[in-house]
Amino acid sequence: PFEVLVIGGGPAGVAASIYTARKGFTTGIAAERFGGQLNDTLGIENLPGTAYTEGPKLAGELKGQVEANGIELINLAAAERLEPARQAGGLHSVHFAGGGTLKTRSLILATGARWRNLGVPGEAEYRNKGVAYCPHCDGPLFKGKRIAVIGGGNSGVEAAIDLAKIVGHVTLIEFDARLRADAVLQAKLQSMGNVDILTGAQTTEVLGENGRVSGLKWKDRTSGEEREIALEGVFVQIGLVPNTEWLKDSGLELSPHGEIVTDGEGRTNVPGVFAAGDATTVPYKQIVVAMGEGSKAALSAFDYLIRTEAP
Ligand code: FAD
Repeated sequence: PFEVLVIGGGPAGVAASIYTARKGFTTGIAAERFGGQLNDTLGIENLPGTAYTEGPKLAGELKGQVEANGIELINLAAAERLEPARQAGGLHSVHFAGGGTLKTRSLILATGARWRNLGVPGEAEYRNKGVAYCPHCDGPLFKGKRIAVIGGGNSGVEAAIDLAKIVGHVTLIEFDARLRADAVLQAKLQSMGNVDILTGAQTTEVLGENGRVSGLKWKDRTSGEEREIALEGVFVQIGLVPNTEWLKDSGLELSPHGEIVTDGEGRTNVPGVFAAGDATTVPYKQIVVAMGEGSKAALSAFDYLIRTEAP
């Protein structure tokens, strides 16, 4: 068995594994897709100390660091079920698709999250070519331009407020008849001079020209009329879904959104099981946050291992 098993090979999981391996614990990473969301990320400009990098390049560097630290990497392994230890200090078992099982004294869950997609024509085609999901990451790329934010919940309205300060013009598009964001956010958005708000509006297509987003088609859900807006960017803000479906019946506490509930030290409600990154209740889903939380969870696992005797 491992002393530390990390599930997930994104920034959080890799940071965790480096810390425990450097403490001398036998550490393994099992990941469905090593690199996680980095594989889908083009430019990264907000990682302190690295003025510019690209997701796949950073993922490659993380892989090199995993190998250099003697961490066992089991890639293309999808965890399907967690069976926590029956007694304090005992072994946790993780069962994988295809039938394998790994056992470990401590477990760090870092399975990340995925942005919910619109699922309309043009969205996948123009991803990273005008279609974006992270305002903190990609907002500055649209300086002075016309963009749309899709989604009128808190994240959509917060994104629209944030982006309206950077871009030329924002159209906020909400499917429902009214925005669902907190009233104070709605009031703030309405007070901004360069924002239009469309409600009861269904986005039906992302339009492109010369390989980049050039507009968006939407349908007025009351009149049924189809319309087009010319713009250069579309921020999709209809939800970030944690990859935790496989943990549902494990006894691990999840939030109503399915996020793994952690305390300030990355501990879950199950002794010996820790979690970090986008899969958890820790707010602000960013690389630097995921890495920091991963190292915190690892140090908590270290603390657990040195204080707990195997039964
Ligand atoms: P993830 O990166 O999601 O990694 C999760 C890992 O868990 C993956 O290896 C995955 O395969 C694995 N996994 C999931 N389920 C299972 C399972 N059942 N069994 C085994 N393994 C599993 N952040 C920034 O700071 N700056 C940026 O510029 C930036 N740009 C972004 C651009 C895009 C297009 C996207 C999508 C995100 C961007 N982000 C950016 C956000 C950033 O990528 C995430 O916050 C970060 O990757 C979270 O790290 P994580 O390790 O928690 O999860």
